[in-house]
Amino acid sequence: MSRARAEIVVELPLIRHNVRVLREHTGVEMMTVVKADGYGHGMVPAARAARDAGAAWLGVATIDEALGLREAGDTGRVLSWLGVPGEDYAAAISADVDVTAYSVAELREVAAAVGAAGRPARLQLKVDTGLSRGGAPLDAWEDLVAEAAAGQARGDWTVTGIWSHFACSDEPEHPANDAQEAAFRHALEVGERAGLRPEVRHLANSAAAILRPSSRFDLVRCGIASYGLDPAPGHTPDLGLLPAMSAVAELAMVKRIPAGAGVSYGHTWHAPHATTVGVVPVGYGDGVPRHASNHAEVLVGGRRRPVRGRVCMDQLVVDLDDDDVAAGARATLFGTGRLGEPTAQDWAEAAGTISYEIVTRIGGRFVRRYV
Ligand code: PLP
Repeated sequence: MSRARAEIVVELPLIRHNVRVLREHTGVEMMTVVKADGYGHGMVPAARAARDAGAAWLGVATIDEALGLREAGDTGRVLSWLGVPGEDYAAAISADVDVTAYSVAELREVAAAVGAAGRPARLQLKVDTGLSRGGAPLDAWEDLVAEAAAGQARGDWTVTGIWSHFACSDEPEHPANDAQEAAFRHALEVGERAGLRPEVRHLANSAAAILRPSSRFDLVRCGIASYGLDPAPGHTPDLGLLPAMSAVAELAMVKRIPAGAGVSYGHTWHAPHATTVGVVPVGYGDGVPRHASNHAEVLVGGRRRPVRGRVCMDQLVVDLDDDDVAAGARATLFGTGRLGEPTAQDWAEAAGTISYEIVTRIGGRFVRRYV
């Protein structure tokens, strides 16, 4: 293979730093969320960095992701939370993964899998306190808890956790936060009345972990902040979190264009005067958001350069503004921000999305490198 023309550089020491900062700030057990390939940073390297920094738990969506962690040698606590009907719970139970159930039907599937695995499961129950996504509806919670307590008494499983997930924690003043936390406390009481005293009760994602101490309970589940990105822009205090991912490419070409020249498909930008442009050899085929056309910036030669015209499948054009920059120069789309480069949050704002989407989608022909 030829040398990389574009790289995603992941600084694992920064993930370790962020996890340590978050542990210190929250003062409770940490579950680092490494689903979706570690938010684009690489699930296994991110998981190892998190463990090194003291994460007692790792969180993933699918059982396949959990098994991937086990195959890579991780032996710590792992929670998976997005089962589908017919899920291979037996594999998860055999691999000592904590699985989540939302419904009595799921409990039955887990019970059947316990027989196949030949050992009891570690089971967590998720209650829907207001996100209206996964989790048992509040009016079905009592039945779920009763069934879970019965299964525990039979020896099918230990209920290791009860948990829920916020809808609006990135808006700290949103009334849904208080309502969800109150509903969660109520759900815990119902569990307690049924005799369930789980090892971990958890509700907070990154934003809540940082901004809402009352929601921390025994454990916080931090994804985005572990990767150094701001979970609640405009609200988060400066904790010194540092973005761990940089996206870098080399300029494929530099050239002069005359005043009035239209740039890229559709000519959505015209040069107001003769200028120098650089071609960055990455595009939406590599996960660079097309919605950032004409809005984002890229650091080249120590200065931020505006993206001109539309982001194409394989390339985008930046305005170098008469500067003496040559082909091969380093173009940083986003990074830590330490050298003045944009961050994934800046790209998210340029594209009208969230930083989560920027880092999880970047990929394609970028080659990932760890430092
Ligand atoms: N918990 C659950 C159930 C999630 O789905 C996620 C991610 O979406 C997280 C925690 C982590 O959220 P964040 O990245 O905002 O910390």
